Amino acid sequence: MTCIFCQIIERKIPSSIVYEDDTVLAFMDIQPVNPGHVLVIPKKHAESVAELDDETMGALNVVCKKVNQALRKSDLKVEGVNHFLADGEAAGQEVFHVHFHVFPRFANDGFGLKFKEDYANLPPRSELDAAAGKIKKNC
Ligand code: AMP
Ligand code: ZN
Repeated sequence: MTCIFCQIIERKIPSSIVYEDDTVLAFMDIQPVNPGHVLVIPKKHAESVAELDDETMGALNVVCKKVNQALRKSDLKVEGVNHFLADGEAAGQEVFHVHFHVFPRFANDGFGLKFKEDYANLPPRSELDAAAGKIKKNC
């Protein structure tokens, strides 16, 4: 078995688990963006979001919410919380077992998303409508 997260599920390698049920496991990221960085994964191996059934996707998001609330109740430094999922290599996915990152944010924590240079220029409504049309027909 090569999937590192499946090895965590099967307790073949160490992890720091914060939540577990029949469908979902949540554990600490080994390289946290900030202290309290949790990964939320399905117990059944799936590489991408497209492979997940709706029930599992729902269960993952319910656990992300639980972790969000648990972080906020903890004495970790938590001014805000990011939920983040990289679906595909181009999106930054490095471990090909679906996972949500749920991690605390606070002012000047050094984390940020990088935007392209012309990001400040809003596209015309026609461009938004055209993109919406392409997505809508597949929803
Ligand atoms: P991503 O780039 O979205 O695929 O994120 C993969 C995440 O998995 C990174 O944040 C890694 O730090 C984390 N990671 C990799 N190996 C382990 C491990 N053995 N235990 C916990 N987290 C891990
Ligand atoms: Zn796996």
